[in-house]
Amino acid sequence: MRRCDAVVVGGGPAGSSCAWALRRAGREVVVLDRASFPRDKVCAGWITPAVVAALELDTEEYRRGRTFQPITAFRTGRIGGRDVVTRYPRAVSFGIRRCEFDHYLLCRAGAEVRPATPLAGLHRADGVWTVNGEITAPVLVGAGGHFCPVARHLGGGGAGEPVVAAQEFEVALEPGEDCPVEPEAPELYFAGDLKGYGWVFRKQGVVNVGYGRVGGERLSAHVARFMDFLRRRERLPESVTGRLKGHAYLLYETAPRPLVGDGVLLVGDAAGLAYAQSGEGIRPAVESGLLAAQTILQARGRGGAADLEPYRRRIEARFGRRPSGRGFAGLLPSRLVEGLGAAVLASRWLTRRVVLDRWFLHAHQPALSLP
Ligand SMILES: Cc1cc2nc3c(=O)[nH]c(=O)nc-3n(C[C@H](O)[C@H](O)[C@H](O)COP(=O)(O)OP(=O)(O)OC[C@H]3O[C@@H](n4cnc5c(N)ncnc54)[C@H](O)[C@@H]3O)c2cc1C
Repeated sequence: MRRCDAVVVGGGPAGSSCAWALRRAGREVVVLDRASFPRDKVCAGWITPAVVAALELDTEEYRRGRTFQPITAFRTGRIGGRDVVTRYPRAVSFGIRRCEFDHYLLCRAGAEVRPATPLAGLHRADGVWTVNGEITAPVLVGAGGHFCPVARHLGGGGAGEPVVAAQEFEVALEPGEDCPVEPEAPELYFAGDLKGYGWVFRKQGVVNVGYGRVGGERLSAHVARFMDFLRRRERLPESVTGRLKGHAYLLYETAPRPLVGDGVLLVGDAAGLAYAQSGEGIRPAVESGLLAAQTILQARGRGGAADLEPYRRRIEARFGRRPSGRGFAGLLPSRLVEGLGAAVLASRWLTRRVVLDRWFLHAHQPALSLP
């Protein structure tokens, strides 16, 4: 039997951040993942500077042999409407490839990693978990993403969750092949009802195109319409194409998942933490992983629900309390939402201050810095 201080189920950004912080404090951690790394994850691969700061990422080292695309501008608009280009005097985000980023973070964490190892058995007795019949620990961290088995164990993940469903493809440009999208200026185009948006993002020699929508009804039709719009606008050449892959996630404000249970913490997509307006999930995954580690360290080897409860308070202090009812936007008539959306997206000032700085860059919230 392998004894350790915490078992982390899932080695994505949430799980690896938690493992990294625990290992830095000298704790024994085992990370299980059903995949073998490097593995890919359906994702546009856009990270904000707050992620780089919270992870203390050495960008000079990271960019050696890996994609790391500074972003200094955005082209935005409504699907079918006029574009607005917003430029910044410095890099306000970065483009990465998840197959590289997640692998790098997991290796750097310095934890014992068990690849190709799905969670197969979970048993708790006398305050100790036995995982897969071979690892014991007082604390279990559910970091298995949207379909996390630990979240299911806590009663999350049932039918009827208010998901965002998305489809995308990521392809390398052929030698000599061009794409009009500027690498430092990703393009974001919003649906008229503001319930979805699509993107086309060039990261050095790689193009990532996708569309995500709250609820996901008739997603394929929305994706097809968006692709058609990009081709007609000549933003995406016919030759740049790939097999669409789908995935889902929950938005923090409406996710019905618990954060804490007896001996368990959920982090990242397992807890449903993505930002509501942008769907950015890597920053919440990393921050929740670090806050979970902080809670585990302060619990000093105890894993009772009361010992882990401070994690919920830390998440609420960071991301706000989950509202109990429908948000304000959900109460507005759809015609009004469409009118407001069109006005915001047509205005250069509102696009910069509201859509980009506030919704997409979360510039008002400094990077997480823990002692
Ligand atoms: C189309 C799309 C585009 C997106 N674009 C962006 C973006 O550009 N920027 C951004 O910030 N966010 C983006 N997101 C959200 C972001 O991808 C997620 O929020 C983020 O990956 C969450 O990280 P995580 O570590 O919680 O989960 P994941 O990255 O999903 O990692 C979970 C890990 O758990 C493992 N696992 C799953 N089940 C088991 C099991 N049974 N046993 C063991 N291991 C298991 C998986 O193999 C995986 O490695 C996007 C999401 C989608 C769907």
